[in-house]
Amino acid sequence: MNDPRPMPPTPDFDAVIVGAGFGGLYMLHRVREAGFRARVFEAGDGVGGTWYWNRYPGARCDIESVDYSYSFSPELEQEWQWTERYPRQPEILAYLNHVADRFDLRRDIRLETRVTAAQFDEAAGLWRVETDRGERCTARYCVMATGCLSVPKAPELPGIERFAGATYLTAAWPRDGVDLTGQRVGVIGTGSTAIQVIPQVARQAAHLTVFQRTANFSVPARNGPLPEGEQQRIKAGYRERRALSRQSLFGIPVALPDTPRRTRDIPPAELNQTLEALWAQGGAMSLLAATPDVLMDPDANTRVAEFVRGKIRATVKDPRLAELLCPSTHPLGTKRLCLDSEYYETFNRDNVTLVDLRATPIQTLTEHGLRTTAAEYPLDALIFATGFDAMTGALLAIDIRGRGGRSLGEAWADGPHTYLGLASAGFPNLFLITGPQSPSVFTNMVMSIEQHVDWIADCLDYLRAHSIARIEAAAPAQADWEAHVAAVADATLMPQADSWYVGANVPGKPRVFMAYLGGLGPYRQRCDQVAAQGYAGFELSPAPTTV
Ligand SMILES: Cc1cc2nc3c(=O)[nH]c(=O)nc-3n(C[C@H](O)[C@H](O)[C@H](O)COP(=O)(O)OP(=O)(O)OC[C@H]3O[C@@H](n4cnc5c(N)ncnc54)[C@H](O)[C@@H]3O)c2cc1C
Repeated sequence: MNDPRPMPPTPDFDAVIVGAGFGGLYMLHRVREAGFRARVFEAGDGVGGTWYWNRYPGARCDIESVDYSYSFSPELEQEWQWTERYPRQPEILAYLNHVADRFDLRRDIRLETRVTAAQFDEAAGLWRVETDRGERCTARYCVMATGCLSVPKAPELPGIERFAGATYLTAAWPRDGVDLTGQRVGVIGTGSTAIQVIPQVARQAAHLTVFQRTANFSVPARNGPLPEGEQQRIKAGYRERRALSRQSLFGIPVALPDTPRRTRDIPPAELNQTLEALWAQGGAMSLLAATPDVLMDPDANTRVAEFVRGKIRATVKDPRLAELLCPSTHPLGTKRLCLDSEYYETFNRDNVTLVDLRATPIQTLTEHGLRTTAAEYPLDALIFATGFDAMTGALLAIDIRGRGGRSLGEAWADGPHTYLGLASAGFPNLFLITGPQSPSVFTNMVMSIEQHVDWIADCLDYLRAHSIARIEAAAPAQADWEAHVAAVADATLMPQADSWYVGANVPGKPRVFMAYLGGLGPYRQRCDQVAAQGYAGFELSPAPTTV
């Protein structure tokens, strides 16, 4: 029987991809390889995403370079030489520019173009996309590669308009750098970014004042050059290393122990020896993977946290300062565990002051500095390392409208609703790369991005091969997934912290734990199973047949 619906019109593109970071670049490569016509829109004037925007001093990744890199091309893996164990921002940006050139991606990328709206035209079965340049186009599929940490949180301080000094946002750092030599500098924030910035600024500034609301746990990176011999050895075994990462919890090559022992069953001397070895080796994720229950069992967490607090006390000479720097408001790992190069050591310098904003809250910025309830701190420059509207910020900044004209903002008013973090009911043919309720920020994100991109590209292939016009997350499957995500999170200590994982850093944001904590390997298996079952949990609508 013939379908009375008209054939869908031919769209301008098969897929529009929003964002040109790790996610958008690889998505473009995959869909083009599969013969789809695609267009990427990117707000910045270059590719690179996170590594294009975040140019602050000390910016580097906290996953080892050989793992925080694409695995899809063995040739790329072999030819690119990393110089350091944890590369700096310029090196990661150079890598992503190399990828854009090597795979000839630039011709399909529109830079300096922000997508402002994407509306699903139900009759045509197409997404209508609008940009801030007034461009309009249509696409069968819309892939959001907009990033989990791409919308910086604007600083909210009384008196900010009065401050006569310079202000800098770490996530929008001036491209030509900033010379802070001889200046009195303040840093607001003590999260991952601030922990990278502070040691660097302390070396330049005449005086650095760190304004701390919440002390965070940080682990030494033990960064250094990546010797050629070691890199060659890793490259020789890359396939095995990547396979291990793909099946791991965090997307790094650490195997799950065959018979995990609970921390309480590990004799204290043995646990201490393990933690000492990990501390000496450096790396945040491996410390979290040290025992299987560190994020589950309060006693286990306290034992590891107390080990880290001991290290802080041993490093910071002034015992009063050391206590201020010892985190006490949240279990270890429930806020992003930071990686540093001489963070705690920085507080031994004569030109660094730590201000405890819990004891003496900020009153106002003045013309010449910052006043707390206890004192006024004169400043020439103030750096805001105040974080991001994480996970949902970039998505909700676009006027995305699905079936019935319903906006994503309405659909997600009480928090994100997704199936596998890949799609959301009511929004056909819309895909999210590392969307909320996927492992995303709780992993080596390049591994998670590749997994999502591969899954989406395979899905588009399947839809084409089976003449399916629409795919949409089914509401019951979505509800089941969300219940599972919440149950896994609730079995851990993670929801306890006022972290950006729960949106606590953005006033008015619904408090929902936004990442999937079941581990990348198990999650991958689940996604593969869904695909193998003909996209179970999705509603697929066939394309109308021709007369
Ligand atoms: C300072 C910092 C350090 C980090 N370190 C690590 C690390 O060590 N390990 C790790 O795993 N992860 C880290 N991350 C997370 C990092 O974001 C990911 O690893 C990865 O770079 C994300 O890539 P992406 O392509 O998904 O998103 P992004 O790199 O954020 O790229 C998204 C792009 O989309 C663009 N965009 C957004 N909205 C629009 C729109 N409406 N129209 C057009 N363009 C738009 C943005 O301009 C941006 O360029 C870090 C993040 C930050 C901020």
